[in-house]
Amino acid sequence: MKILNYINGEFAEPISNEWIDCFEPATGKTYGRCPDSGAGDIDNAVNAANEAFLGWSNLSSADRAGFLNRIADGIEARSKEFAHSESIDTGKPLWLTSSVDIPRAIQNFRFFSAAATQFSSESHYTEGIGINYTLRRPLGAVACISPWNLPLYLFSWKIAPALAVGNCVVGKPSEITPLTAFLLSEISIEAGLPPGVLNIVHGKGSKSGESLINHAEIKAISFTGSTVVGKHIASTAAKTLQKTSLELGGKNPVVIFNDCDLETALEATLRSSFANQGQICLCGSRIYVQREIYDDFHQEFVNRTKKMSVGDPLESTSKLGALTSQAHLEKVLSYIQLARDEGGEILCGGNQVTPEGRCEDGWFVEPTVIEGLPIDCRTNQEEIFGPVVSIAPFDSETDALELANSTDYGLATVIWTANINRALSMAESIEAGIVWINGWMPRDLRTPFGGVKQSGVGREGGNEAMRFFTEPKNVFVQYK
Ligand code: NAD
Repeated sequence: MKILNYINGEFAEPISNEWIDCFEPATGKTYGRCPDSGAGDIDNAVNAANEAFLGWSNLSSADRAGFLNRIADGIEARSKEFAHSESIDTGKPLWLTSSVDIPRAIQNFRFFSAAATQFSSESHYTEGIGINYTLRRPLGAVACISPWNLPLYLFSWKIAPALAVGNCVVGKPSEITPLTAFLLSEISIEAGLPPGVLNIVHGKGSKSGESLINHAEIKAISFTGSTVVGKHIASTAAKTLQKTSLELGGKNPVVIFNDCDLETALEATLRSSFANQGQICLCGSRIYVQREIYDDFHQEFVNRTKKMSVGDPLESTSKLGALTSQAHLEKVLSYIQLARDEGGEILCGGNQVTPEGRCEDGWFVEPTVIEGLPIDCRTNQEEIFGPVVSIAPFDSETDALELANSTDYGLATVIWTANINRALSMAESIEAGIVWINGWMPRDLRTPFGGVKQSGVGREGGNEAMRFFTEPKNVFVQYK
């Protein structure tokens, strides 16, 4: 399989003719290759975006909305192929790509298609003198850079609002999972999207990514990925004062009080720990349980974790699939070893898994629960981003809050309690961009999405995204 760039409405090979092998994580074998693009490819894409900008931004919002809906229709019509491709490329179970990743990518295009026609700006009456109104105009050519853990889901989450308000996009998906972004290029052509409106350039972050963030004609960078790269992008963008939205790493706490609905909390915590092999920025990785129920909870949690099947992502019985790259597998295993070195007790899991048959060379790890680690150790402070959680007891609400806030990250927190006063007061004091009370993962696409501290700067979702991708201009009219 040969994945190609999509530039100015056409497929293009990389100018250098350099390629990157694409792997199927479940088998450890290559399934194809994608371009290892460079500065010239990025330049072509940015030029195409700039040329398309006037026409696209001058279309009515209803016309732009029509294109976004046609893209959604196109993905929907081929949703089985998309779900299968996403599973092959990432190692995540097919049941998950079919029920979450691809439906959500379709929803992203439909949501921002509707938003395009409903976006409004503000006006401010200046008493006795006149009126201000705010014009919100698109920026021009913008960069959308996404990671490998939710490839089409997060790529479309950026592209759709950028296009909805009239920008043209140069997208760079992760070089580790380029497949569904390539299929999206096919869909965009089928939908009749004008050339240059959306360009997708594949390649390494250190090469095509660098060229993109350094390109003088790029007006804004929407980035989701690691904190290290996010900081690098912030410092690069500072040189030309490009606008940035940075959605970065996390080390999310799950706080379980003794008055919660234990069964619901248990089942949801299994999901928040191990969904997508723990490779979701919103997964909980530190579980704190109030002491009165600690023994019961952690025993049952470990029992149920042991029963979770790890195996071929194409089998409906596999709860967990493979980790997405060999390098990531090695990183996760090294953190499990670090936890042992730091005095942690592995309550279950802790090992690589070698399934029989077609997946015998795949990159699988057992879901792992670790106890007995101090809060300030590296295992409890650094992002592992795999099927690995630590568990510890706490006594009071004050202790829980201190533990929850004790890392440099601040993306999401989950609180389980029947005491609504306690839940609301904790939600106020938690240092995080997202708090779930008595649930994990319901997402309303209108709400602000993002993190604080080392988890990022800026917000995505709903009007936040529409505002990020536009420049407000105040116009004052004096009539008295
Ligand atoms: P990464 O930072 O290595 O890469 C993300 C993207 O940036 C990729 O497309 C990569 O090619 C590109 N990139 C890398 N170096 C670049 C550079 N110098 N210039 C421009 N682009 C560059 O992250 P990853 O390993 O792909 O993803 C995992 C990380 O993403 C985790 O830290 C996870 O928490 C985070 N994440 C955050 C959210 C969120 O919403 N906060 C969501 C998903 C994932």
